[in-house]
Amino acid sequence: MTHPTSSDHIDNVLHETRVIQPPADFAASAQVTREEYERRYRQSLDDPDTFWAGVAGELSWMKPWDTVLDWQEPHAQWFVGGQTNLAYNALDRQVERGLGSKRAFVWEGEDGEVRTFTYSELLAQVKRAANALLALGVQKGDRVTLYLPLIPEAAIAMLACARIGAVHSVVFGGFSVSALSDRMNDADSKLLITADAGLRRGGLVNLKANADEAAARTPCLEHMLVVNRADSNPPMQEGRDVWWHEALAAASDEHEAVSLDSEHPLFVLYTSGSTGKPKGVLHTTGGYMVGTYLTTGTVFDLKDDDVFWCTADVGWVTGHSYSVYGPLLNGATVMLYEGAPNHPDWGRFWAIVQKHGVTILYTAPTAIRALMRQGDEIPAKYDLSSLRLLGSVGEPINPEAWVWYARVIGGGRCPVIDTWWQTETGSIMLTTLPGAHPAKPGSAGLPMYGIEPAIMTRDGQELGPDDGGLLVIKRPWPSMLRTVYGDDERYRKTYWGEIPHVYFAGDGARRDADGYITVMGRVDDVLNVSGHRLGTMEIESALVAHPSVSEAAVVGRPDDLKGESVVAFVLPQGDQTVDPAALRAYVTREIGALARPDAIYIADALPKTRSGKIMRRFLRQIAAGRAIEGDTSTLEDPGVLERLAETDAV
Ligand code: ATP
Ligand code: MG
Repeated sequence: MTHPTSSDHIDNVLHETRVIQPPADFAASAQVTREEYERRYRQSLDDPDTFWAGVAGELSWMKPWDTVLDWQEPHAQWFVGGQTNLAYNALDRQVERGLGSKRAFVWEGEDGEVRTFTYSELLAQVKRAANALLALGVQKGDRVTLYLPLIPEAAIAMLACARIGAVHSVVFGGFSVSALSDRMNDADSKLLITADAGLRRGGLVNLKANADEAAARTPCLEHMLVVNRADSNPPMQEGRDVWWHEALAAASDEHEAVSLDSEHPLFVLYTSGSTGKPKGVLHTTGGYMVGTYLTTGTVFDLKDDDVFWCTADVGWVTGHSYSVYGPLLNGATVMLYEGAPNHPDWGRFWAIVQKHGVTILYTAPTAIRALMRQGDEIPAKYDLSSLRLLGSVGEPINPEAWVWYARVIGGGRCPVIDTWWQTETGSIMLTTLPGAHPAKPGSAGLPMYGIEPAIMTRDGQELGPDDGGLLVIKRPWPSMLRTVYGDDERYRKTYWGEIPHVYFAGDGARRDADGYITVMGRVDDVLNVSGHRLGTMEIESALVAHPSVSEAAVVGRPDDLKGESVVAFVLPQGDQTVDPAALRAYVTREIGALARPDAIYIADALPKTRSGKIMRRFLRQIAAGRAIEGDTSTLEDPGVLERLAETDAV
């Protein structure tokens, strides 16, 4: 604990030392060796123009770029002067290189229905959808909001927008009327694409009813295109609403992808809202395409016969980059699943892996911890031998959950990669490459090509090995956000205004002597106990490592003596009871008396965003006995807060 007084320093308290080598079989056939990674990483920093031109040159451009990067801090333009089309690269290009009859999507509905699309079939659908959008008056540059279940039409609509140069804004289908109308108004959307209803845990979610209510508060909206998912027969407003199937049937399946400037806007996507009001992140065409193409192929060691399943909804950036754009740009077969992981029971994920021969599984710590809570017997009933690689994204993965994932799901045979990135970064920034690098549970790992991270104090001093501080990126990269939609000032301030000349991610982290970066939690969530700054990840990981605990969140509570004291919210593992005294003793032994929780709440659920991230800002209010305030629109289940507020700490 070197600088207990520095206001940016985060103390390093967790002593996780396990190192897991890449399984020999995997390493033997992996795309990238350690030497190859080092060579390409060096080149990407020493000669970025050549490096990025090489990657971009693997894709099709209607007009070549003049300049790889034009950087006028804080605004970057990539592949300046170049013209391309992302949907063309994802589909037409694959058909042209002979992949027309390869499966692009294998979709399974919650009710068990399976639909498959080859690259040719998907291309034909996207062309029809593009013509249908044009027929509704959507023009290049117009914003189109999507509010859909995870059905193939969601991806088809995204690709159709990209094909004509319309800017999509996907709003997660679980969001409320006001969240939807706020986002439509913020993006000034002309068209909403929705469905009559979605299927969720056996019931119907009436999307069209929400959409109608939201539309009434959205003056800019002209039309609604409605997919018939559930035959629920919603009212259709004459002149405004059009059925998707009718519009597509009437449309031609001939359409030539529009040539777009590399910097033409591709989509707006609102962040998850874990720390405050969501930001409308704007991504553009060329750079995002290059970033998702490169990372999907390289990080996931993609091979021709892989069945790639990223479980994220298309409402989140992970669904954009790794269920749709990245894998299709690589000509991969993508698994899509509409429903909940526990419908009809907690074996659903494993049934899907077994049935469809999924080879790469990419999911979130929140899902891994929930699955872990159900015990090992459920996955043991399924044949998971098709899996060869496992990935995690969205939150820090606690070492205990990492080890469970590797052992029980990966059968000790699959490497696990922990990928750190953000809506804002567009694609994976930190990870280990599965065949090249040993993994350290709890640590994301090394920078991807072209990414130059550093750990700093707020005044821009770089910290040394094992010193916790602020995670920053020192130079622009192709898939970075270009601005906050309609609020460039917020973009400048939030990302480039905190620390001079670097991108501020908002996360705390440390880097070890091998260069591995461990994300220690969000800077906003850091606790200040007796002058020591503690990240949430390490204390939570120590709690989760106790056999009686499956999930944990810690926050600080104002304390006269210590500044803040540690308050823990824990979920029991299976049917175990949590013994508070034993848990306190365990934390004290594992990471020290400093981190010992003063108060422990034994909970049945934690407040999370709809993408499954723990929202500590509300837990801080509960711990301090205050009323709940702040933006609750992205909260998954407000009932959790009420129950917690009535729970007594032990
Ligand atoms: P908001 O910015 O609105 O508060 P959010 O940050 O949750 O929401 P996302 O862009 O979905 O929105 O999430 C990015 C954040 O998720 C990262 O900044 C980081 O805090 C966390 N994160 C993602 N992947 C990882 C990972 N592998 N390890 C640790 N943290 C991660
Ligand atoms: Mg964020």
